[in-house]
Amino acid sequence: KAKENGKNRYWIYEMNMSIQAQNRLTLEQRLRKALERDEFVLYYQPQVDVTKGKILGMEALIRWKHPEEGLIPPMKFIPIAEETGLILPIGEWVLRTAIAQNITWQKEGFPALRIAVNLSARQFEQENLVEQISKILDEEGMEGRWLELEITESVAMQDIELTSRVLKQLKELGIHIAIDDFGVGYSSLSYLKRFPIDTLKVDQSFIRDGLSQDSENGVIVSSILELARDLNYSAIAEGVETEAQLEFLKTKACAGIQGFLISRPLPARDMTTLLDMAHENQGKLSVSSELNN
Ligand code: C2E
Ligand code: MG
Ligand code: MG
Ligand code: MG
Repeated sequence: KAKENGKNRYWIYEMNMSIQAQNRLTLEQRLRKALERDEFVLYYQPQVDVTKGKILGMEALIRWKHPEEGLIPPMKFIPIAEETGLILPIGEWVLRTAIAQNITWQKEGFPALRIAVNLSARQFEQENLVEQISKILDEEGMEGRWLELEITESVAMQDIELTSRVLKQLKELGIHIAIDDFGVGYSSLSYLKRFPIDTLKVDQSFIRDGLSQDSENGVIVSSILELARDLNYSAIAEGVETEAQLEFLKTKACAGIQGFLISRPLPARDMTTLLDMAHENQGKLSVSSELNN
């Protein structure tokens, strides 16, 4: 009886494995097709300085515009893209598209803004990453200083030597470096100090719930902000959704804000409208933007 049970369990295990493998295969094939058919789109979310009311830049965020299933968020396909290596061509598409769009805005006469692009682990380990980026900048005609690359803390800490070398080369191109989702990884602060970092992005999980002076999250956020100040990095709080969160961040002198309170990520056309509104208002953006819904 026990033996039979074991056999059944094994069979079920095998079946599950094969379903999983199949799912992965089809998603991989679907992602390949999506790339060929140009089904990916970038949304743009403004990052603002709330004390000046100015747009500092924007983050490019990928979505998959599926013909039947609609807009698919990155968390549903980036992990598989990462696993299969498809993130390399997808990532290259993201870089080129974000840079081309930023140049379009500059040519349309908007004040130049920095565009932030997320890099995955696989991309960061890519042998020719720096050459690739330098080539795209050249071809699209954008100066490196208008590009910010976001890598997570865990990607940065994976291989300290590699990170130091790559970040140094990127800095030589004038590119800004942001550490994304800061606080949830396990940075060694002594290493962090060795990297040429411009910005720490405070992870949104700390901002989310009950952010207040005496809450645990409040204490974590203020120490991250203090660390950023001590190391001469600028800071951006991610995922700011409420006035109360904003008020708390203001008491901690955190001016850099990104979140639904300011604006959701927007398709390029809506971002252009938002830039227009800010432009008419001498570069200022009112916090409750009309585009917010
Ligand atoms: P991330 O880089 O930390 O991006 C911030 C995420 O927070 C975005 O989710 C954004 O829409 C969301 N967000 C912004 N403000 C708020 C807010 O006030 N409240 C809440 N609840 N969420 C907010 P999204 O676009 O779904 O992207 C999720 C993650 O997928 C990104 O996290 C990033 O890790 C990854 N990702 C997105 N685009 C790319 C890409 O082009 N390449 C790579 N490698 N990864 C990407
Ligand atoms: Mg990011
Ligand atoms: Mg983040
Ligand atoms: Mg994240």
